[in-house]
Amino acid sequence: MSLIVAEKIEKSYATNAALRGVNIAIEPREWVSITGPSGSGKSTLMNILGGLDLPTAGCVRLNGTDICALSEDGLARFRRETIGYIFQQSHLIPYLSATENVMLCQYFHSIPDEEEAREALRRVGLGHRLDHKPSQLSGGEQQRVCIARALINSPKLLLADEPTGNLDRENTRVVLELLKRMYDEEHFTIVLVTHDPFVAEWAGRVVGMEDGHIVFDRKAGET
Ligand code: ADP
Repeated sequence: MSLIVAEKIEKSYATNAALRGVNIAIEPREWVSITGPSGSGKSTLMNILGGLDLPTAGCVRLNGTDICALSEDGLARFRRETIGYIFQQSHLIPYLSATENVMLCQYFHSIPDEEEAREALRRVGLGHRLDHKPSQLSGGEQQRVCIARALINSPKLLLADEPTGNLDRENTRVVLELLKRMYDEEHFTIVLVTHDPFVAEWAGRVVGMEDGHIVFDRKAGET
């Protein structure tokens, strides 16, 4: 069974159509990049696939659940239990340490466990930064905290929107290598939005968007 099935997805904002009839199915354990120029609908599609936003028309089944039919509370619970998120901005709480930021995510899911949070940070190479606040971390280190936070509750799906958008090439590579290692070790699916061809090709599958449509859908490395 596909992890995500989205059919005839449309999304309009007033007179502006962000998505114009998108169909896509994503299998468990796939790593899919969604790429395309700015304004082509990448983030809108990712947000709808991950239940952060609802389509104007069409429906999304995620892990067997029609997410458009859930109540607001039901959808929030479903997101907490099923999905981890990484964004371009870290959205870390500035007055909490790296460990506490990860524990906050555990708290909203179930029960905070400090040692588990510390171990998650060690796994992303931040064993020496456990008690640092976000302002004491580099951009690359902050994104590594975000990876630990996104994966702490063992989500089925990891959604990443321009996760390396604020990083230089070297830190981009470090973050992607880390994501790849976690992806190989754990059993989640990745949907990653990027406008950067270097980042897109780390996936197994690359989906191209233009003007609210999918214009190609190919294996990474193929042209
Ligand atoms: P991308 O991620 O490819 O840059 P987006 O999905 O962010 O593109 O946006 C697609 C289109 O939808 C753009 O024209 C954008 O201006 C519009 N759009 C996105 N979000 C909103 C919003 N909240 N209100 C109005 N228009 C929006």
